[in-house]
This record gives sequence, structure tokens and C-alpha cells, in this order.
Amino acid sequence: MKTLKKTKVPNLPDFIQTKIYKTGQTRGADDDVIYQNRVGRNSTVLIPYDFYDVCVHAKPEGFENGFIVLIDPDKFFTIPDYETKLKSQNIILGENALLLYGTRTQWETYNPTAKGLIPATSRVSPLDGKFISRVASTTSDEKNRENHGFTTTGKKGAGIRVYEYASKKIIDQCRIQLEYLFWSCYDSIERCVTFGLKREDAMVRKEYNETNAENDGLNCKETLLQKRMIDIDGHTVCPLCLEKLSSQGFFDKVAQAEGRSVHDLTVTQINLFHIQELRIGQYNHTPYNLGWGHHHCNVVVKDTGIKETLEWMQGVLERNNQLS
Ligand SMILES: [Zn+2]
Repeated sequence: MKTLKKTKVPNLPDFIQTKIYKTGQTRGADDDVIYQNRVGRNSTVLIPYDFYDVCVHAKPEGFENGFIVLIDPDKFFTIPDYETKLKSQNIILGENALLLYGTRTQWETYNPTAKGLIPATSRVSPLDGKFISRVASTTSDEKNRENHGFTTTGKKGAGIRVYEYASKKIIDQCRIQLEYLFWSCYDSIERCVTFGLKREDAMVRKEYNETNAENDGLNCKETLLQKRMIDIDGHTVCPLCLEKLSSQGFFDKVAQAEGRSVHDLTVTQINLFHIQELRIGQYNHTPYNLGWGHHHCNVVVKDTGIKETLEWMQGVLERNNQLS
């Protein structure tokens, strides 16, 4: 196995480093949801009870920071022997499960305070409470929002969406492969030089990354090609439109912040791109499933999937061609 002392390895330009680092974190959560924003993907996982079996079955080695099962109060308080059924699966309220109040009807019908329940505060067992709530205010009274549990600490939210989960090792491998794909852009050395890295340093960093990718089996050209992450020349491409990516797209936001003119920013800007979209019961934040792609193309694919999006596009074009 090749090694290179890390102390001698130049850092990536800040913006790229941050962009790659953030891929190991969750995003898109605010105060009114139960999820944590910008925490590691190996954080405590929240599993809706209906998906408990499928989620746990698909992850036999377990979760590095545990999980919390979310229970629907409607079922808990109306289905006979529901708690006994949960206990038979080792799901215990306050230990590894919480009631989740999400609607005002639930809040009023099974009011937790009236039932002597307190909101949970801990993400590890015991959870120091038995419920969490995120109930929006009514239009008649803007102040009666009912958000309880995991609302006050710096990192709000009870945990992460189960399908966002990845172990620390997988997170690190994804970062190595995403850096590998950055260096596989046809113009990455040149762009790094433009943004302040010495050419020799860029070369050393690139080689260091290639060694890491090689050692962890993260640079299989055939698989990367088959997964639409690189093209036949070995250059990184957008997984939807298959256009070669200019690494300029990684820097567009920097250029914009510095007030430079940026052509077609929304079209060229580059984002993390899931080849297989994230789905409950699957754990798709894995090497060979994360590429870089146009922001624009990413928005089009969203949760639909690449194949389905291409079929839809084909139909759009065929119908339009019939017109002309
Ligand atoms: Zn594209």
C-alpha cells in the first residue's frame, strides 16, 4: 500500500474543501421539523415505526449513534395493547422511542401534558422524556405553536432522517471519491491555480488523493463510467446530461462573492448528485452513488431518478417533434 505523509500534503482550496466536507452532513432542516441540520450523517437516526423493520433489517450492523423510533400518538392511544406489541420488539417509550405529535388534532386529543408526559431531551437512552412535538400555530393564534423537545440546544432536532445515514467510514470514503471526481474534471489543476493554489501543490494533492482512492478501491474507472460519473476519457461528467464538468462550476459561488462576472451561473454551478436517489429502507450515501452534477440537472432529477427523468424528457421531445 502506498503512503504519503499527511503533514506534507497541501490543502485543497477552502471552497472545495468545505464543499466536500459538507457532503458528510445533513441539510435542509429548520426549527419547525424534528431533524437536525448540518450534523454528521452518522448521528442518531429517527425511524418512523411503520418503517422500523425495513430500516433495521437493511442495517444489520446497527447505527453508530443509535436510533429513536417515532410512534404515532393516534395509534398508541387507540389500538389495544399497542405498547405491549412495541415492547415485544424491544421498542420502549423513553428508552429508544418517542411519541411524535405533528398535528393540532393529536395535540388536543392526546395532550401529553394532561397525560403527565414530559418532552425528551437526550438523543441517547434514556431519552429523559417520552414525546417530541412540532405542531404549527393556528391561523387564529400565531403564538400557539407547540414545539417541545430538542428545541433549545445549539444543534436542534432529535436526530437525522434514516435514509441520510452513513457510517463514519463510509462518509470518509465518499469524501475521498468526491475529491477524486473533482480532480477528474478536465481543467481542475488550471482552476486551482487560478484560485490561488501553486501548480506543484495542486499536483501533490491530486496524487495524494489518487493514492487514497486506489488504496480504498474508490477509483474503478469501469464502475464510475457505468454509473455516469465519468466519461470514456476519464473526465468527470454530469450524471444527467453527461456534459464534461468544468471545475469552474465548483468556484462559481466564490467568483460571484468576489463580484466577478459569472456566465450562466445557475446552469454551470455544481452540486452533489445522487445516482440512486435517497429512499427510506435504503442507505444510498455510499461510494459509487455520489457524483457531481449541474445544479440545474440536479433540480430536474430531484427524487425521480435519472432513468425516469430521461424517459420523461424523451416523451417531451417526441411530442414536440410531432409539432414541427
Ligand atoms: Zn448536467
